[in-house]
Amino acid sequence: KEAMALPKEELAALRATLKDNITKNAALGAYVEQLTGEPLNTLGEGIPIAIKDNIQVKGWNVTSASKILQGYVAPYNATVIDNLLKHGLAPFGRTNMDEFAMGSSTETSYYGKTKNPHNHACVPGGSSGGSAAAVAGGLAIAALGSDTGGSIRQPAAFCGCVGMKPTYGKVSRYGLGAFSSSLDQIGPITQNVEDAAILYDILAGHEERDSTSARMAHEAVSAALNPDRKLTIAVIENFLEGAAPSIQEKMQEGIKALESQGHTIVYKNLMNTKYDVATYYVIATAEASANLSRYDGVRYGNRAEAASLKEMYLKTRSEGFGDEVKRRILLGTFVLSSGYYDAYYIKAQKARHLIKENYEAIFEEADLIFMPVTPTPAFEFGSISDPLEMYLSDIYTISINLAGLPALALPLGMSQEGLPIGGQLVAKAYAEQTLFDGALSLE
Ligand code: GLN
Repeated sequence: KEAMALPKEELAALRATLKDNITKNAALGAYVEQLTGEPLNTLGEGIPIAIKDNIQVKGWNVTSASKILQGYVAPYNATVIDNLLKHGLAPFGRTNMDEFAMGSSTETSYYGKTKNPHNHACVPGGSSGGSAAAVAGGLAIAALGSDTGGSIRQPAAFCGCVGMKPTYGKVSRYGLGAFSSSLDQIGPITQNVEDAAILYDILAGHEERDSTSARMAHEAVSAALNPDRKLTIAVIENFLEGAAPSIQEKMQEGIKALESQGHTIVYKNLMNTKYDVATYYVIATAEASANLSRYDGVRYGNRAEAASLKEMYLKTRSEGFGDEVKRRILLGTFVLSSGYYDAYYIKAQKARHLIKENYEAIFEEADLIFMPVTPTPAFEFGSISDPLEMYLSDIYTISINLAGLPALALPLGMSQEGLPIGGQLVAKAYAEQTLFDGALSLE
């Protein structure tokens, strides 16, 4: 209570980081080994990390914040959880999210809302809103989230944390509740860039049980962090123009800070970005409609009482899924149906290819891209009721998932209203070292 009464800056300075904890744990381990001759057994215990409710932790409920999975107990650990345990970290505490990670405000959770620690009238962002709020509110040292179209970076920006989405395939999806399998990635939400690098190193690596896992040895980034590298960083002008004045202001300060660190800034435009949102919502809903067909009342979670099998399917799914999830299943089923498949799904795949090429063209001349995370700071609960308007809050994050690239959101400062403002750096596929180096120089 005494600590909580301190001014925010002093409180922040008192908070232990993941790195502090790892250092202390190592010292404790060495001490225990010296005393007993045995290594410190950290299996099942360790530095506590908060876990989004779509990542399996053996013996824990895993609900994806949906009624349909209420009471379902995970039978095994996701690979990322085993990786935490191997490194002396341990899952501790479930965090709220949008139902099946569909949303940008954590308002679609069946289990209620999560408040933004900086302003309780505002959303924490989504879908990993619980993870970001837990880190920003001082409940967790660090947390895991998942990012399909911005769900790590957008809540990190709204809550003033660091949030990182790895290159598609770098972190195993084994044990992650599938939303859109060609876009989903697990990643860290932390208090600072170095902690994000440390946690990313623990999560990443090739794994046989995820067929889309990148077949390459993981090269650790956290031990090689170098904020003094001089990089060429592209600023996307047409993205900057669309953002709210408070975001533009902090982005301009960020650009100046990057220049003063000796980086070279080049100005670029991303072509045809008006198709990003449409492309994402065709591909993501198509994959979601297929992935969510497994929730049939037979294999997982809740089952409705019914006289026939068909009625049981219908009732289970009608009662179990919320409105946003139903909307996506309907959309996805529509774009995959014969007659519409070519017009929507195939066309979206072609647009996805172009989006990837647009990024590749920029990376021929730049090491990193610097752009806003969101068009506005955190908005108030209930202020966005139109689903299409909500989809537009992902406008700066989703194309990065479509292109499979790594990106990191970090705090750039506060708006006049006292809300955090984030910026994001984006790197070429597998160039996480450059991503973290650039981010560290801006922190
Ligand atoms: N807000 C986006 C959506 O609703 C992204 C969600 C995510 O990244 N899981 O699909």
